[in-house]
Amino acid sequence: MPFGHDMVHSLATVVELVNTSPSTGGDEGLAGLAELRAFVQARQVSGISTLTPRDLGQVRMVREAFHRVFTAPDLPTAVRTLNSLLSETRITPRLTEHDGHPLHMHYFAADSELAEHLAADCGVALAHLLVEGEVDRLRTCSAPDCERVFVDESRNRSRVYCDSRTCGNRMHVAAYRARRRA
Ligand SMILES: [Zn+2]
Ligand SMILES: [Zn+2]
Repeated sequence: MPFGHDMVHSLATVVELVNTSPSTGGDEGLAGLAELRAFVQARQVSGISTLTPRDLGQVRMVREAFHRVFTAPDLPTAVRTLNSLLSETRITPRLTEHDGHPLHMHYFAADSELAEHLAADCGVALAHLLVEGEVDRLRTCSAPDCERVFVDESRNRSRVYCDSRTCGNRMHVAAYRARRRA
């Protein structure tokens, strides 16, 4: 996928965001403002100063909408879900060259709060993915007790686990043990 730096970055951000949700099988990853702040720093979301409980609530709502896009049973459902999120989001395209990255687009309005910032940049990245006919790259982990999401960026679309080192490794060990028992 010849995606630019911001597309790749935004897709990684939305994956990390969705995987903080308890609906992906783990604990609430955004339990409070400290966790939210850590997420903002880790994902280098720019222009965010203070965070309030309101931000936390809004980000969780946007997160659930994104989760529904990843788990949509078909393309029309994914499109409807994403369109509904985008319709509530101000999108302001802006050319930028920051931190040594080549010229690329940002989509969040300059005065956006965190949830709208994420909805704009991650929403547009997912929209491009759907437009390019790549909806099947939005996946949920195949390990039986894991529902984390990921974007399969492999050439032959063969990735099945959210993380090859954790779930992939775990499943390979389980398969190996099953073979030994057989
Ligand atoms: Zn950028
Ligand atoms: Zn997994």
